[in-house]
Amino acid sequence: MTRRFVPGTAALLVLAFLHGGGPGTAQSSAPEFDRWFTPATMRLDYVHVGGLGAEQLAVSQVVGDGPWPGSRTRLVDDTDLGTYRVDVLDARSGTRLYSRGFSSVYAEWETTAEAAWTHKTFRESVRFPWPQAAVEVAIRKRVPGGGFRDLWSTSIDPRTVAAPAHRPPAGAVWTLVEHGPPAEKVDLLLIAEGYTRGDIAAFHADAERLVEGMFALEPYRSRRTGFNVRALDLVSPESGVRGRDGAAGTSRLATQYGVFGMDRYLLSMDDPALRDAAAAAPYEFIAVVVNERSYGGGGIFNAHATVAAGHDAAPYVFVHEFAHHFAGLGDEYYSSEVSYETGGSSHPEPWEPNLTALADPAALKWRDLVKPGTPLPTPWDREGYERLGREHRARRAALDKRGTTPAMVAEAVRDELEGVRQFLAGLRYAGTVGAFEGAGYQAEGLYRPSVNCVMFTRDPGGFCPVCRRAISRIIDLYAGQ
Ligand SMILES: [Zn+2]
Repeated sequence: MTRRFVPGTAALLVLAFLHGGGPGTAQSSAPEFDRWFTPATMRLDYVHVGGLGAEQLAVSQVVGDGPWPGSRTRLVDDTDLGTYRVDVLDARSGTRLYSRGFSSVYAEWETTAEAAWTHKTFRESVRFPWPQAAVEVAIRKRVPGGGFRDLWSTSIDPRTVAAPAHRPPAGAVWTLVEHGPPAEKVDLLLIAEGYTRGDIAAFHADAERLVEGMFALEPYRSRRTGFNVRALDLVSPESGVRGRDGAAGTSRLATQYGVFGMDRYLLSMDDPALRDAAAAAPYEFIAVVVNERSYGGGGIFNAHATVAAGHDAAPYVFVHEFAHHFAGLGDEYYSSEVSYETGGSSHPEPWEPNLTALADPAALKWRDLVKPGTPLPTPWDREGYERLGREHRARRAALDKRGTTPAMVAEAVRDELEGVRQFLAGLRYAGTVGAFEGAGYQAEGLYRPSVNCVMFTRDPGGFCPVCRRAISRIIDLYAGQ
């Protein structure tokens, strides 16, 4: 299945892009794109600092970032997702030329207790097609419950920015799945992190296993031809991303466990390094494949996703975290150690397409998928589910006291997952779309669309219908007409 990425093909692709034509791109290239943009990518790197109620952005650099791989027809994002949105406006007329919703590590940090007593700086970036004339790049922030407010903006005159230079790629790029020109497909790039030269064969096997696991699930299975998937062999000096005593090691993208004090939360904390490496291939979405065995992963909408590839559950973690990154899906679970302080039982409507505060059941955002006669909120045996969780924790504690081997822990986890799956599958409204209380880290006041889903448990049954539709909409945004 794997083909090496042939450099000759890449060069032809670049030429086709620069001339704005070539087979496959001419028909789909909307006149609007050619009027406002050239076929290169501009990347704005900025720092995002906040805490103690303050929030400030500042430009660090504007750089060329290779050919523009994104859609030339869906330039304005109409999906209304993300904590932030970038708008690129023509400086003279104010016409909105390009927009995308996104979230960031900062947006999550802001909801932790630490943000109340200290300042912190994060590095972020936005990418958009290279404008022909001066533009205003505005970052807007969602107002909880509805709409966006102006947060910050900066002017960019493309004549003052160095033309996109050819940078040597950070490593060899190879193709797992290819279905057409980047402008007409979702372009996913997997990047090796913590793999030495000797580990690269293992990276190839990990990448194939993860990607095939994703395409085994709907809606990816039916929409496979909407994707290109490539992988970058980024070689690290040492195996893994942990140094001594679990501290950050010498990996290329500063990927760390323990983000926001959560052991299993794994993110790259060096956005410029991540973007510089990713520029080796056309991409819109990035999955950092981490050479570690400890369970872990993370996913930020329109930023990046990570997965520790050496753990048995990696295919599941990959699908779950990639859904955060790709479609902005929220976590449907609520009974885990999570350090976000969302507080109270009254919540503004979340922007995530699979979470709701259910303020008005008649206006439920997935109302059209609810069968007539389904009660809203939809009853489920929450007490029974929570009792099962308590029993599992007690059993695990008893096992720990007696002393366990990794095999015993793995078996206990398998038993627990199967117990939960059977319990949920036996509920009256299993398999029905409704509004089930307990979601988004909250036992009360937030609702999920289905009793079970990839975003709720390690459910082998896949995504619920609401999550499937949300993923399909993003595929349409990049691979639709
Ligand atoms: Zn779901």
